[in-house]
Amino acid sequence: RVDLKELLQEIMLNLWTKAEKRTIELRLDSVDKPLVEGDANRLKQVFLNLIDNAIKFSHENSAIDLFVSFEGNNVVVQVHDTGIGISEDHLVRVKDRFFQVDPLNGGTGLGLAISQQLVELHHGILLIQSELDVGTTIVVRLPRLLEAEESADSSEIPQLPGAETS
Ligand code: ATP
Ligand code: MG
Repeated sequence: RVDLKELLQEIMLNLWTKAEKRTIELRLDSVDKPLVEGDANRLKQVFLNLIDNAIKFSHENSAIDLFVSFEGNNVVVQVHDTGIGISEDHLVRVKDRFFQVDPLNGGTGLGLAISQQLVELHHGILLIQSELDVGTTIVVRLPRLLEAEESADSSEIPQLPGAETS
């Protein structure tokens, strides 16, 4: 089982220097014990990529907000930035493998495609809301693990071979 609040706190520490360099503040607002079933390393890869994107495509002196809440039987994580945003035309393609609005930004264009697949392997969904020049919110919804189910069998989630984070 994975506590997404703890996972995000860890990721914030990992990405602190990168954010600090561009004077971007990382903020977390989370319910307690947002537990999900799954592979902590793979889920870490998902949120590392999403928050890395948020930093990369944000303006200096801005903030990135991470919200974690319960919605019915799901845990919902929102990664919200006020960066460059994505136009409607591009929005339909950003989850495609290798697609980048601007390839000169570096990276491979695989982050979102991999994140989406990993979320789906955890029986969740990944949605992108964005407006050009306004900002982007990525919503990840994963089935909530109740503490009573803690011993639940997670063997149905297949392990993947290693994939690179950005
Ligand atoms: P990699 O993740 O492999 O290092 P990448 O970040 O370019 O490369 P993705 O994470 O798949 O690739 O994102 C694909 C594209 O979607 C980005 O190149 C960018 O154009 C757009 N994008 C992703 N996240 C954001 C965001 N938060 N704000 C604006 N554009 C974004
Ligand atoms: Mg990326």
